[in-house]
This record gives sequence, C-alpha cells and structure tokens, in this order.
Amino acid sequence: MPRPIRALFDSAALRNNLAIARARAPSARVWAVVKANAYGHGLSRTVEALASADGFALLDLDEAVRLRDAGVRKPILLLEGFFSLDDLATVVEHSLSVVIHSEEQVDMLVSAGFPARIPLYLKLDTGMNRLGFSPAAFAIALERLQGCRMAGEITLMTHFADADGERGIRDQFERFASATDGLALPRSLANSAALLRYPESHAEWVRPGIMLYGCSPFPDESAQTLGLQPVMTLASELLVVRELGKGDRVGYGGAFVAPKRMRIGVVACGYADGYPRHAPDGTPVLVAGRRARTAGRVSMDMLTVDLTGVPEAAIGAPVTLWGQGLSADEVAAAAGTISYELLCRLAARVPQVDLD
Ligand SMILES: *Cc1c(COP(=O)(O)O)cnc(C)c1O
Repeated sequence: MPRPIRALFDSAALRNNLAIARARAPSARVWAVVKANAYGHGLSRTVEALASADGFALLDLDEAVRLRDAGVRKPILLLEGFFSLDDLATVVEHSLSVVIHSEEQVDMLVSAGFPARIPLYLKLDTGMNRLGFSPAAFAIALERLQGCRMAGEITLMTHFADADGERGIRDQFERFASATDGLALPRSLANSAALLRYPESHAEWVRPGIMLYGCSPFPDESAQTLGLQPVMTLASELLVVRELGKGDRVGYGGAFVAPKRMRIGVVACGYADGYPRHAPDGTPVLVAGRRARTAGRVSMDMLTVDLTGVPEAAIGAPVTLWGQGLSADEVAAAAGTISYELLCRLAARVPQVDLD
C-alpha cells in the first residue's frame, strides 16, 4: 500500500481562474506565469489546462524547450532572458521571447547576428532594484535594440515590488510612465496583485501567476472573495488515532502537552512532503471535512492533529492539508509564509493526481 498522501490537480479551477484574470483585465493579453514547475503544479498539465492563455512565461530555458517539444506553439517568454550565446542560439531555434534586463544581453544580441528576429521585453527597474535598467540606461538600451537586426517586436516592461501591499504601485507606475512617455510600444507591468487592484497597470500584456493557481496575492483579501478556486489540494489520511491523558506529550521535543484527556490523529504528511516544518500548533487542517488544528511538531513523514472537534474521525479519515475547503493562503499565514512557497515546495515524492 502506498502512503495515502497525494496532490489533487483541478484543471477546471485553473480555467476558472484564468477566466477571472481575463474578466478583470479584458483589454489585455495574458502571459500565464508557469515558472517553478507552474508553482509546483506540474508544467505540462498546467500548460495543457491553460491552453487558451496568450502565452506562457517561465525562467528555465530547458522548460521552455520542453514545452516546444511537447507541441506548444504559443509565445513562450523567458523572464530572465538568456545568459550566454549558446542560450541565445536555443532561443532562436525555438522561437522564444526574452526579457532583456542587462547590458550584457544587449551586447550579445547586437553582436550575435543570428538570422532571426526575437520578440524582446525590455525591463525597466522602477524600484524593485533586482533586475532591469535604470531609466537612463533603459533609453540607451532601447536605442541600441531598435538598431539591432535580431530585435523583433519590443515590449516595455517592469515588475512591481508592492502591488499587494500598502504602498501599492503608484511610485513605480509613475517612474515607468515617465521613462516610457511618447514611446509607441506595447507594455507589460501587472502581476496578479496589480491585475486585480490597479486597472491602470493592465496595458497590453498582464502577467498573472499566483491567482491562476487559486490563491490570493493579498494579505487582506481572500481568494474566495476574489472568486478564485484552489487548483492544488494536498490530501492525505489519518494513519492512527490515539487517546491522550492530561499531561501526555506529542512528537519530537514533546512540544505539545495535552491540557486534558483528548484524541489526536496522526496524518501521513510531513516536511519531506513539503508541509512547512515551522507551522506552529493550531495551524488549520481539515479532517473528515471539519476544521481541526495541528498539535505538536511536524516531523519528516507525519504530523499530528487535535481531534477534539471531530469526534467521528477514525483511522483512514480524509485529511486536507490545503486546497479545496481550506485555502493554502490560510495555512501559509498560520505558518508565517505565503501560499507561493507552500505550492512550489510540494515535494517530488508526493504523487500528483488529475481530477476530471
Ligand atoms: C513571478 C512573476 C510574475 C507573477 O507574479 P504573481 O504575484 O504570482 O502574479 C509576474 N511577473 C514576473 C516578472 C514574475 O517574475
């Protein structure tokens, strides 16, 4: 018997979430962001379910090539572009689109001279201070690219640092507007948070990631309120149910001490499956469809839950760690992280199962 843990994948939810992105940004085309193995959901199944997106954005050249080899003909955007002339040759061979964020990349494009035109996304650093050109360097890079035989359509791009937070996008948006003023070129700015909250940032191409997977980019607005449906459900079962007396301890370090007589359940899911080890006592879990709370340290292959509110729970009772009925956002918040990290940390050993 295999362990009962599995990650269920709901492609209908993915399509619903893409439809919400389109409804919220009706005039923009959509790059579905599928980096990090589609935020842990599996690249090929995700791209298949999102076949109606206008293109797919990711980081890894190998993943882009895999998509082309699998017959994906839509635009594919490399969010960090290429790193060498060899990479650039592969980009040309597979008709990929690339982000250009450094002088070195411009130099390579100008000197390489492959007989091909590549769609380019020229990235302006508007305050993230990670990738991209300063406004002055941006103008020079654009001029060089416009004189470069390998440059296909050029799209102007930036990335927001705080579209999900209190500062919002205003400063960065204004810097982008002034650096691109008067340029009649397509633009791409919005991640999920900007797509949902700042229509002025939609422009020609939006780049939603997390919302497609059914999680909220915002700490103060739930996925459910936004109409988003969870795509991944991490599901398992109770391996064991046991009675504790008052004062009995549970798990490593004996960190949980029963305050009274109570029942706990042992769940087949641990940090080696991708569940956060630092989730504290009280992190929400669904047992037999009802809310329960973790009690005791998460170990490698197991975790323990307080069954006080679930008297009917017995061995084999279904457990949802996150997903349908319990948003990964809520589990992430309890564990001091964000849903992005829970989803893309799903361990390779967890079998993934497609619902249909
Ligand atoms: C990851 C990423 C996105 C998507 O961000 P979400 O917050 O998941 O919507 C968009 N643009 C770039 C450049 C990214 O790296």
